[in-house]
Amino acid sequence: MADIIRAAPPVMNNLSYVQPTASSPWGTYLAQVDRVGPYMGSLARWVETLRRPKRALIVDVPIELDNGEIVHFEGYRVQHNLSRGPGKGGVRYHPAVTLEEVMALSAWMTVKNAAVNLPYGGAKGGIRVDPAKLSLKELERVTRRYTSEIGGIIGPQQDIPAPDVNTNAQVMAWMMDTYSMNTGTTATGVVTGKPIHLGGSLGRVKATGRGVFVTGAEAMRRLNIPMAGARIAVQGYGNVGSNAALLFAVAGAKIVAVQDHTGTVYNAAGLDAPRLAAHVVHTGGVGGFSGGEGIPPESFWDAETDVLIPAALEGQITAPRAERLRARLVLEAANGPTVPEADDILAARGITVLPDVICNAGGVIVSYFEWVQDFSSYFWTEEEINQRLDKIIVDALAHIWHTAQQHGIPLRTGAFTVACGRILMARQERGLYP
Ligand code: GLU
Repeated sequence: MADIIRAAPPVMNNLSYVQPTASSPWGTYLAQVDRVGPYMGSLARWVETLRRPKRALIVDVPIELDNGEIVHFEGYRVQHNLSRGPGKGGVRYHPAVTLEEVMALSAWMTVKNAAVNLPYGGAKGGIRVDPAKLSLKELERVTRRYTSEIGGIIGPQQDIPAPDVNTNAQVMAWMMDTYSMNTGTTATGVVTGKPIHLGGSLGRVKATGRGVFVTGAEAMRRLNIPMAGARIAVQGYGNVGSNAALLFAVAGAKIVAVQDHTGTVYNAAGLDAPRLAAHVVHTGGVGGFSGGEGIPPESFWDAETDVLIPAALEGQITAPRAERLRARLVLEAANGPTVPEADDILAARGITVLPDVICNAGGVIVSYFEWVQDFSSYFWTEEEINQRLDKIIVDALAHIWHTAQQHGIPLRTGAFTVACGRILMARQERGLYP
C-alpha cells in the first residue's frame, strides 16, 4: 500500500492559467487523480480529461454600496466535467476565494457526484468577498449581479448552484429570482438549498451534517470504535460542523474540542453541543464559550481524540499536523482538508481518513432530491428524505470500502477509483465530439 502511494508521480499541470503547488487545492486534487491511474484499466487513456476543467468563467461583479461608493468583486463559475449530467455544486463567498480554489472544488464535486452515483457532472462557484462586511441589501446586489453574469451557463438542465461556505437559503432565493426574471420563467430547479416555500426540500439544511454522522458512525462500526464516549474534535462550527456534532452527541459521543476563526475550546468531559450551537448563533463563533476552557489554536491538533472532523476550509491537515494527530479516524466534512503529504503520513500511522467525496456528500444528495421534487412538483416528507439519504450514502460507502480493501489502497483512492471509473466510462461511451 505504501509503495503505491510513494510511486505516485509529482504534481504536474500544463494549464496556462494556474500554478498549483503540491499542497494548494488544485495541486492536491491533481495528486489525488494521479493515484487512480493504475486502477482505471483501459479507461486510463481518458484520465487527462479529469485534469482539465471543461469551462471556467471569470466575471466582474460591480455593486453600489449603501453609501454610494462603487466597488468591484471577482466571481467565478467553473464547470469541471459534464459527462454524466448537468453541472452541480455550491457557491462560496469568502475573501480568500481564487480561481484555483474554485477549480479544485468543482473537480471534487465531479468526483463526489459520481462516487454516490448522482446523475450530475461537477461545478462550483465563488466570489472573492467578505460577506460579513456587507449589509443585507449589498449582499443581495452582489448575488443578483453575479447570478446575471453567470446566467448564460447555469440552468435547471445545465448547471445547478447550491449553498456552500457563507451562502444560504436566502442567497439561493435571490439567485432563483434573478435567473427567473432574466429568463421569463419561474425556474425553481435552477438552484437547490432554497427556502421550503420556494421549492426547497425538507432536510436539506441538515443534510451535510447528517451525512457526516451517518458515514462516520458506519466507519466507526467497521473500525470497532465504540460510539459511547468516543472523543470527537470538530474544526468549524458552521452549518455542517454543528449539525454533525449535535448528532454525534445525541448518539453518546463526547465533543471534546472545537475550533473556528473566533477561538478554540476544550473540555475533556465533553462540551454541551446544543448549548455551544446556541452560543455560536448568538455570538458568531465558538470563542468565549463558557462550557470549556479556551486553548491556543495550534493545541487543537494535539487533543486526545478518537475522531477528528475538519469541517472548515481546505488544506488544514498539513504534514506537521498529521504527524501530531491523536485520532484514529478523520471524517472530512470540509472539502479538501487534507494535503497529499499528510494523507501519506496518516496512512503510514494507521489513521483512517474517510474522504470528503463520500463523507460530506449528504448535502448534494438532498440537493438532488430537491431538484427531482421541483421537476415533479411533488414533495416528500422529511422521513422519506432522510431514509433515502441514509441508504444512498451507506451503500456508496460500502462499495468504496470494498474497492479500497480489494486493492489494498486508502479510502480516498478507493472512492476516486469508483467515481473516476464511472466518469471515464461515460466519457468513453459518449466519445469525442466532433
Ligand atoms: N456545497 C456543497 C458541497 O460541497 C453542496 C453542493 C450542492 O448541493 O450542490 O457538496
